[in-house]
Amino acid sequence: MQSTLADGGPGPSLVPWDIGHPDYTAVIEPDTAFWSLVPTRQLTETLSDESFLAQVSARHADFQAELQTLRFGLAPSAVYFNPTERCNLNCTYCYLPERTRLRGAHMSQTQLFDALEILREFFARTLPAGERPQVIFHGAEPLLNRRAVFAAIDHYAEDFTFGVQTNGTVLNARAIEFLTSRRISLGLSLDGHLAGISDRTRRTHGGRGVHRRVVEVLEALRGYDNHSVICTATTANLRHLSELVTFFHGLEVPTCMLNPVRCTLSGGAAVKPADHELSAAYLRALDRSAELYAQTGRKLVVANFANILLAIIAPTARRLMCDISPCGGGRCFFAVDARGGLFPCSEFIGLDGFSGGNLFEGGLDSAFGSEAFSSITTRTVERIDPCARCVIRHYCGAPCPAEANELHGGTTHPGAFCQFYEEQARYALRVIAEGRENDYLWDNWDARTSTVFEVLQ
Ligand code: SF4
Ligand code: SF4
Repeated sequence: MQSTLADGGPGPSLVPWDIGHPDYTAVIEPDTAFWSLVPTRQLTETLSDESFLAQVSARHADFQAELQTLRFGLAPSAVYFNPTERCNLNCTYCYLPERTRLRGAHMSQTQLFDALEILREFFARTLPAGERPQVIFHGAEPLLNRRAVFAAIDHYAEDFTFGVQTNGTVLNARAIEFLTSRRISLGLSLDGHLAGISDRTRRTHGGRGVHRRVVEVLEALRGYDNHSVICTATTANLRHLSELVTFFHGLEVPTCMLNPVRCTLSGGAAVKPADHELSAAYLRALDRSAELYAQTGRKLVVANFANILLAIIAPTARRLMCDISPCGGGRCFFAVDARGGLFPCSEFIGLDGFSGGNLFEGGLDSAFGSEAFSSITTRTVERIDPCARCVIRHYCGAPCPAEANELHGGTTHPGAFCQFYEEQARYALRVIAEGRENDYLWDNWDARTSTVFEVLQ
């Protein structure tokens, strides 16, 4: 009879991982992202429990196949589309150079429609019938090209699901009415609960703060359930993330992201918080979001954390594609710049060596075959040291290749915030150990998922 003991022969490779919980330890199979929470006092017993190990072994191939599909088998279904290179703001950490944001290219309505026509034909060939691709108008500031963008939203209403990621400053009452009446997904940006904090990093070219204007827009969006706010966590706002969570919750924002600043360009690197300080502040903000839910019965979902939770409990339900390897850039989505340039992700716009060609010239098939795209779609954690040995490598994914490239001179390095991912995964497993995962997730997150393996003792 073949042995099924852990860590030998054909048995599963199970690694105990301290999650900082008084009663539970995680046991993880790093290759498949399988996990179990085991009472710490029964750890040794569990790791030699033949019935448990046999069940894990029996499902090993299924777990592997599911992860394989998620990592390599998805068709692109979204585009980050920059209809202009211009922006009225000059944020400290922007990934586009200032001269481009002042005088860059601006698509005409005809060019925008031509581009969407090419995208429509591409997705009609590559996506299953009835599946509608997503186009997210992204920046620079897409609403500086509002006339063309709004015309496209109406003209292609049956072909795409649209989203707009905006700095919020040029959204007036008519624009809000236009977008909300069509149920367009709206993402805004705000970095602090007070002008004195958010205006440190988000200002106009003339140095004027925009906090008050963005808060007015958020007030106008109160009650609209299809909006979210991104906060970029930097040294300028780190100590105030919990207050910001309280502020967003008070404005009835349904979803926010507390994203660590991307250190892809020097402006971002200049306000990079220390990894351990970011982790501590972020976990306090998560505590605060749970406290507010307990007090009011209304959730503010912190989407980047919710995604880590989903990566653990329901990998196929995850919504964001940064914390998986390869990341979603160039395989689940791609970016189009205001000249039709194609990139694996917006984060690569403006970086040398990552252009996959042009939508109007070589087209999409050539971009997907390009070295620029394949360098990102083949960037697996298995190629990165120390990530290849990391027990949570499939909950983290070693983001971000653009950041790693600019910080460390190559994409096959970890990004800037390793400890941040470790602490998030520990926190997530503690939340699961206490049965509180739904407090942090969107309602009905599990509508399209099913349980494939469960052992309760
Ligand atoms: S990890 Fe970086 S390159 Fe990949 S999808 Fe996220 S932001 Fe884009
Ligand atoms: S960045 Fe850190 S936490 Fe993420 S996979 Fe690499 S070693 Fe693990």
